[in-house]
Amino acid sequence: MEPVDTLILGPLVVTMDAGERILDTGAVAVREGEIAAVGTREELAGCEAAETIDATGRLLMPGLVNAHTHLGDSLFRSLVEELPLEAWLERLWISEREFVSRESVELGARLSLAEMIRSGTTCALDMFWFPEAAADAALGAGFRLVTGPIFFDFDGPDGVSVEDRIATGERWLDRYAEEPLITPCVQPHNALTVSPDGMRAARGLADRDGILFHTHCSETATEVRQTIERFGRTPVAHLDELGILDARTVLAHCVHLDDDDFVRLRRAGAAVLHNPLSNLKLGSGIAPVARMLEEGIPVALGTDGPVSSNDLDMWTAMRFAGLLQRGVHMDPVITPALEIVRMATTVGAEALGLGNRVGQLAEGYRADLILIDLDRPHLTPMYDVYGHLVYTVGRDDVRSVMVDGRWAMRDRALETIDETTVLAKMEQLAAEIERHAARLEPA
Ligand SMILES: [Zn+2]
Repeated sequence: MEPVDTLILGPLVVTMDAGERILDTGAVAVREGEIAAVGTREELAGCEAAETIDATGRLLMPGLVNAHTHLGDSLFRSLVEELPLEAWLERLWISEREFVSRESVELGARLSLAEMIRSGTTCALDMFWFPEAAADAALGAGFRLVTGPIFFDFDGPDGVSVEDRIATGERWLDRYAEEPLITPCVQPHNALTVSPDGMRAARGLADRDGILFHTHCSETATEVRQTIERFGRTPVAHLDELGILDARTVLAHCVHLDDDDFVRLRRAGAAVLHNPLSNLKLGSGIAPVARMLEEGIPVALGTDGPVSSNDLDMWTAMRFAGLLQRGVHMDPVITPALEIVRMATTVGAEALGLGNRVGQLAEGYRADLILIDLDRPHLTPMYDVYGHLVYTVGRDDVRSVMVDGRWAMRDRALETIDETTVLAKMEQLAAEIERHAARLEPA
């Protein structure tokens, strides 16, 4: 075998590959950002490598895919709490309008990327103002990001008018089309904030490049009721009737679905992005995930933004995804742990159109992988690997993170983000945001 850049020797390897193999004492070789080989320690031990890592006693698996988030929202985490959803959003948007800028969003994105890398996430789908800010932050951090132009029927804090959104979107997509770490997508907010014409125009833009179409759908009972009042059909039916629902469509939430919605989702091959933490924290409800899986609807997993779930931790999201279905159905075998791990790896990658590049440790895939410490009281012993990954492992157990063959975190030290500077800048800006918010409080 030709020499490789990095050779990781000896860990328990959870491949999530086509055969979902687990190698007790495995090895993975990485060359030019790609997984060159996966095998047993004996098979790869003789391989010549620029860097060899002894990972005996650790667990190696694909990096986690956070399929729905809003990175820039970390600027406002916990600023507004304990309000009903509509009042909460209204209050939050006042601060957004005042403080959202190209520069602040990039700072928020860096902060979120640091949090995600620390917790073992290597790829995320982001929807926020100034998507170029998040894209540039991701490029700087060596992080894999799916993002792109967003659409609302009002002028946003980004200074782009409703009329200019398509042209601005086209320029955005042209600019990031060739970046290997950036996967462009098109993302209107939802069916109530974007008109049918706006939805169709956004869809046209996604079709121009054959890229992913991402929107919020059926998140709350109120949203579903208002969509029915306005259009005479549910949000899922509305998108379907607009000709928007297909295998390149991903829908965040889908908490409130009727029987017809299930038929339409299944027929379209659209994927659902499940966000248990924000659905619970915002009191939106519990998505019918077990039924989606039963009907063959792909379900990927996300955290949602840091203002709605207050956390970008995919381990917590995985745990809740499993616990919720079991509690609701009073069934201890529903949504097996392996199914949840798939949501956060292979299915997440497939939903985002990256299924042939990331989400598994297999030859020819990009080297997005994480190392987890196992020599800890709460992880010892380990009889059931997937059960451990969903119900026991936490973000502090993540030791090292590689994206596209480059270390983003090594032995718990971030390699691509200057965390101290990011935190200091954030503290400074947060003081301003807080002073401004204090002036808004009723006397
Ligand atoms: Zn969202």
